[in-house]
Amino acid sequence: MKSHAQVVVIGGGVVGCSVLYHLARSGWKDVVLLERDELTSGSTWHAAGGMHTINGDPNVAKLQKYTIELYKEIEELSGQATGVHVTGGVLLAATEARMDWLRGVVAKGRYLGLDLEEISAEEAHRLMPLIDPRQFVGAVRNSEDGHLDPSGVTHAYAKAARKLGAEVERFTKVEEIVRQPDGKWRVVTNKGEVIAEHVVNAGGLWAREVGRMVGLELPVLAMEHMYLITEDMPEVAEWNARTGTEVIHAVDFDGELYLRQERGGMLMGTYEKAAKPWSEFQTPWNFGHELLEPDIDRIAPSLEVGFRHFPAFERTGIKQIINGPFTFAPDGNPLVGPVRGLPGFWVACGVMAGFSQGGGVGLALSNWMIHGDPGFDIWAMDVARYGEWASMAYTNAKVRENYSRRFSIRFPNEELPAARPLKTTPIYDLLAERGAQFGVAYGLEVPLWYAPEGVRDEFSWRRSTDFEHVAKEVQAVREGVGLTETSSFAKYRVVGQGAEAWLDRLLACRLPKPGRMTLTPMLKEDGKLIGDFTLARMGSGNPGSGKDQWLILGSGVAEQFHMRWFEKHLPDDGSVAIEALGLRRVGLSIAGPKARDLLAKVTRADMSNAAFPFMAIRAIDIGMSPCLVGRVSYTGDLGYEIWMAPEYQRSVFHTLMQAGEEFGVRLFGSRALNALRLEKNYGSWAREYRPIYGPLEAGLDRFVAYGKEADFIGKAGALQERETGGKLRLRAFVLDADDADVIGDEAIWHDGQVRGWVTSGGYAHASKLSVALGYVPKEIADAADGFEIELLGKRHRARIQPTPLFDANLERLRG
Ligand SMILES: Cc1cc2nc3c(=O)[nH]c(=O)nc-3n(C[C@H](O)[C@H](O)[C@H](O)COP(=O)(O)OP(=O)(O)OC[C@H]3O[C@@H](n4cnc5c(N)ncnc54)[C@H](O)[C@@H]3O)c2cc1C
Repeated sequence: MKSHAQVVVIGGGVVGCSVLYHLARSGWKDVVLLERDELTSGSTWHAAGGMHTINGDPNVAKLQKYTIELYKEIEELSGQATGVHVTGGVLLAATEARMDWLRGVVAKGRYLGLDLEEISAEEAHRLMPLIDPRQFVGAVRNSEDGHLDPSGVTHAYAKAARKLGAEVERFTKVEEIVRQPDGKWRVVTNKGEVIAEHVVNAGGLWAREVGRMVGLELPVLAMEHMYLITEDMPEVAEWNARTGTEVIHAVDFDGELYLRQERGGMLMGTYEKAAKPWSEFQTPWNFGHELLEPDIDRIAPSLEVGFRHFPAFERTGIKQIINGPFTFAPDGNPLVGPVRGLPGFWVACGVMAGFSQGGGVGLALSNWMIHGDPGFDIWAMDVARYGEWASMAYTNAKVRENYSRRFSIRFPNEELPAARPLKTTPIYDLLAERGAQFGVAYGLEVPLWYAPEGVRDEFSWRRSTDFEHVAKEVQAVREGVGLTETSSFAKYRVVGQGAEAWLDRLLACRLPKPGRMTLTPMLKEDGKLIGDFTLARMGSGNPGSGKDQWLILGSGVAEQFHMRWFEKHLPDDGSVAIEALGLRRVGLSIAGPKARDLLAKVTRADMSNAAFPFMAIRAIDIGMSPCLVGRVSYTGDLGYEIWMAPEYQRSVFHTLMQAGEEFGVRLFGSRALNALRLEKNYGSWAREYRPIYGPLEAGLDRFVAYGKEADFIGKAGALQERETGGKLRLRAFVLDADDADVIGDEAIWHDGQVRGWVTSGGYAHASKLSVALGYVPKEIADAADGFEIELLGKRHRARIQPTPLFDANLERLRG
């Protein structure tokens, strides 16, 4: 075994082998994979070998498509058969709600280039003979699904990697990983040591244990999973003989089953409700090529449905039941990327569908390691979407929930109950008493809307029970004053002598003067977005103020993601310090035409427009509580964001609510906030603003100080984008919807062709219009007509809304 390597990949399952292959293919040859046993000795060897393109996140779906297309390449290069059979498949719906969901999948598939088509249950039966069509209301046909030989694929990756110069060391167990003073990693194995610049944890079933070697507790958990293989079936033999083709794949969402042909019989797997974790705290090192004891009782309810939906199964014996463990992250998507605070330590784990996702994971990770950027929008797989709040017990509850709901519908207004409440703010119970219906953002309970006694969300794809109540919250803001909690924002304090120069290089904006705020994009080296923030510079009147004190406000769900970026770019001379304040600062916001009157009533500070204009920020006492107040509001209205230490939040809340009575103050939640910001065409991080868009494309170019002296990160890329005009444009659309609004990822049609996608939207209650934000090619971005947006299988006429529906001339905002 070599003593030094640029990269050590730990784990010879399908994921580690794919990472190794992609590194070698991109030119990093000094790479070695360490596997404690034979290759495939974790979950890989007993996988059912199914591959699918669809995924709830379109960007993950794209990488799944890439994975499936890759198999030909590795088979040719390695000479190793992968056993890939692209049979195509049907996705079956037994209910109308499921069919609505599938229509959304078809719509997404259009701009992802997936070949999906809505068909009737009878047509599905003609394609897949084992179905009882009476059990289904419809289906979707796809041509890309299929199956493969798990061991063949893994060995093909490894052989292809070796051909390109990579090395594979089997029976080499990593026992310790130590960071050296020079920043390199000392990887200690049972066969000696390797010094490496980079380490990739692709430990699969042991990813947690490998993480613990560097003090990392990864949010992954293995679940038991069963599939059965039947005896030969006459129906299968007859179909094979008659058509000369295999029986195609089927996913029966309502039965929670997947099926495919296996030799002369069928393979049927299930994600049963009675989900069972495996090795909850520690994966035994002596586990290898064993299977777990099958438990047919656990999957019996699913099988019963299966026998009804696919009657031939009832007449056939079961030859074998396979039960094996594989790992999941709390939301079921992989954990990929660099780990904050551990430079050179990367993860590629929690991959629950290694044969659909392994190629994409390898490609994104190798890009990231080699070029500093994954090259794709991989937010849905980024390890940084979790913070330390994703504890082992949280993960356990969420993974069980996710497993048992793997094929369940999640409605757009449905909040999942497991592992809640975890993080709460001091006014949580006060809001709950007033009817708050909570959702979760980055582990924190956030109020979505306020329900009258006895009213709750009815889960639906269409407008639901909250609609009229959210409308009233919106009306209160636009006509009087509303109060909402903003604690879920990320807040970062930046201090130090070098802060000004550092921020000038880090952020694309012109830095604000003391006591002022500005909106700012943050760019990557290639000039695309990596963040959008409000940057505040503390004024001279503030405690702890001065030119070295700054506050950055941003998207709460991206706190870990952005801290990883900030820390990577910190100077190493100690002249700048940044910390995420988390819930050590909590927030309330008031907005609406009477917001100023309300605030003036609870403070002695001068709230007049002249003394406290738009984008001003200062320390102000509200009642008795010291707060930091900024004049800005995501509602697009006259409004204030108020930040305080948590011990003051109840007091500030009561003060504002009591003083607000005279102005008819009303609580509003994030659904109303969404309706309000849509009227202003305001986008947000992880929806409109993502690392695949440039500032011009995203309409944030007006906040980029192209001419500023500082050579800010991404300047050259941003200038180039301005010169070429980029490719896309973010646009707001008003659509003729009937009883449902977009949620995101719907297809945008123009002149009969799919040309773009929706990033978010909803009903703008004050304007009484259905609004969608989304990207289209710049060539059609100013077209007067011809747009349609596909919603639940139907195309609705849409027109571009070039100016905000509300307060286009900024009188309310600045007045
Ligand atoms: C019953 C069943 C059916 C499945 N069906 C499908 C399917 O149809 N389609 C699909 O896409 N997926 C399926 N899966 C899931 C699939 O198996 C996993 O997604 C995939 O195997 C994950 O691969 P991995 O490389 O991440 O992990 P693993 O396969 O667990 O590999 C990790 C490797 O790392 C090695 N390792 C760990 N720690 C160390 C160390 N310290 N030193 C050296 N080596 C180490 C292990 O020995 C192991 O070989 C199924 C899983 C099961 C259990």
